[in-house]
Amino acid sequence: MAQPMLSVEEAQERVLNAFAPLETEPVPILEASGRVLAEDIHSDVDIPPHANSSMDGFAVKASDTTGAGPESPKRLRTIGDLPAGYVLEQEVTAGTAVRIMTGAPLPPGADAVVKVEDTAAQGDDVLLLAEVQPGNYVRPAGEDIRRGALALRRGTRLRPQEIGMLAALGHDQAIVGRKPRVALLATGDELVGIDESLAPGKIRNANSYSNAAQVIEHGGQPVLLGIARDRVKELTAKIEAGLDQDIDLLLTSGGVSVGDFDLVKEVLAAEGRMDFWRVRMKPGKPLAFGDMQGVPVLGLPGNPVSVMVSFEMFVRPALLKMQGARALHRPTVEATLMDPIEHKDKRRHFVRVRLAWDDGAYRAYLTGAQGSGILSSMVKANALAIIPEDWDHASAGAQVDVLMLDCQA
Ligand code: AMP
Ligand code: MG
Repeated sequence: MAQPMLSVEEAQERVLNAFAPLETEPVPILEASGRVLAEDIHSDVDIPPHANSSMDGFAVKASDTTGAGPESPKRLRTIGDLPAGYVLEQEVTAGTAVRIMTGAPLPPGADAVVKVEDTAAQGDDVLLLAEVQPGNYVRPAGEDIRRGALALRRGTRLRPQEIGMLAALGHDQAIVGRKPRVALLATGDELVGIDESLAPGKIRNANSYSNAAQVIEHGGQPVLLGIARDRVKELTAKIEAGLDQDIDLLLTSGGVSVGDFDLVKEVLAAEGRMDFWRVRMKPGKPLAFGDMQGVPVLGLPGNPVSVMVSFEMFVRPALLKMQGARALHRPTVEATLMDPIEHKDKRRHFVRVRLAWDDGAYRAYLTGAQGSGILSSMVKANALAIIPEDWDHASAGAQVDVLMLDCQA
């Protein structure tokens, strides 16, 4: 069977075309963290609601401070005390001041605050030791968000700062995209569960867990289907059991290359509609994609790094699209590659690196051997340096794009 060789972008496009946004649901804001907002949020208040002080000090008329300095203090009469959370009706008139705390609304008549460090109390009076302009240490009403303004856009992934904004606007719930349910099936006779002991020839199933954690990181809900042996019957049965669990996507790992026991593509082709591609990338060349019983199925490669990188490239954008996100791809940054790397097979190479800002530039350091089974170099990495298809060698000092694994656009 001749398998088409696709670019990463072509494969991404074909995968993404199979997904549409799911339904939306209201959830308490703390359950909305990491999920995608499905409504525009307009503010029905000014934030802050009143002009208020950004310092502890004295609310004054700026014109009363003209000429004030350490050698020429200006004396004002203190007519009140204003902690945060209270208002003062009393007007600040020429010659008077109100002692004010950070966050307290500016009293009528005052147009500036002199910070406490620039004052000296003298009984009921205060000595001002600095001249200030109108607006000094005053946060105007609506300086953060104006009433009626768009505070949060639909399609935004909710981070702690967006949750804080929802709280500031008085929302205890938010409407978000439903969590995609993603079933994960590991394949291979060599695999044992993480709670089993290792017999000769066996390794633990790492992939279901790294992928499940990636699903959770992107707002989805993993459904672990366990391990299928390399037998057509068992593989078919486990996939079908997964399809019965109300899932939006089924992922398998392993069994998609060209060995005798690579049965995933065979089973998927027999039971559903399946394309098998080679993607011009490294790691992660083989990829099976199709659907069974109307559910999209992605057959990811088995090597522990390949399966994670393939998830990054194809599953992550699909999960975000299902949740209605605007930005589907990680941001990249240009960096200097600090270690050389060979690669001669005209595939885009995603190289595990640690990206750091050193000596005034972004620099990408290889995190170790780049074999597709070497999970420890993924553990040390916070980014993937992208070596283009048409390079067969990247020297130390080359400028490359680097995909930031721990960032979202
Ligand atoms: P395969 O594509 O099935 O030949 O698998 C490629 C490599 O990945 C083999 O060395 C497998 O043992 C390994 N592998 C496959 N599945 C897993 C898994 N779930 N966890 C860890 N390693 C795996
Ligand atoms: Mg296998």
